Amino acid sequence: MSFEVTLLGTGVGIPHSGRAQAGLVVKATEPLLFDCGAGALLRLAEAGFSPLEIDTALLTHLHLDHVSDLLALAKARWLMGESRMEVRGPDGVEEWFETVRGLYSYLEELDVSFTVVRPGDRFTLKGLEIEAGEAVHSLPALSYRIESGTKAVVYSGDTEPSELMRDLASGADLLIHECSFPEPYVVTNHSTPKWLGETFRGAGIKRIVLTHLYPQTIGCEAEMVRDVLVGLGDGVEVEIGRDLQKISI
Ligand SMILES: [Zn+2]
Ligand SMILES: [Zn+2]
Repeated sequence: MSFEVTLLGTGVGIPHSGRAQAGLVVKATEPLLFDCGAGALLRLAEAGFSPLEIDTALLTHLHLDHVSDLLALAKARWLMGESRMEVRGPDGVEEWFETVRGLYSYLEELDVSFTVVRPGDRFTLKGLEIEAGEAVHSLPALSYRIESGTKAVVYSGDTEPSELMRDLASGADLLIHECSFPEPYVVTNHSTPKWLGETFRGAGIKRIVLTHLYPQTIGCEAEMVRDVLVGLGDGVEVEIGRDLQKISI
């Protein structure tokens, strides 16, 4: 079965025009939300998804640029008469959500279920087979491999390019990978183009879409693609992601 990926936000914690914070939807039969940073809720509406359709969110980690619209999504669902929601994410996901929700008594009416996801976990959600991987970031963070039939998409979340990510993404039809800064930035906990390309060289990935773009990437887009390809070698499609981009696999 084929599926469709919609990029909601391709930006980061520092705002810049045209890029909301992290979020994407993967849909085979029903939409599944991954991350929900600031601006992702508006992008959901712009992409044609009702909050009523989005009853399950899967989080990579708890940094604000990946979760700050989640309570706003919960409130939208509550305002529209829905009473349930499911949230899965790393250790601490329930404590984070409940601490913020505790400040808004009306949101207590929502029945929210939580599941902690750990690297190596496999489960099925919305008709998608999902495997969690371990990201290399400044706090516990997950990456996800999402499969439907013979097709596979991998979403890195925030991470350094790593052997773990390479294993998780091996053979994927589409890798949505963060590439926070252009060359010649040297960073930890995030990715840069040549490092990313070298890491995934020969991993059998068909297409890579770069996301999680800091304002420092503005004007460097073509160069970033070229620099990824320097490490990667030819034969892989590489592009810079755009908010509201839809990719059919
Ligand atoms: Zn982060
Ligand atoms: Zn981030």
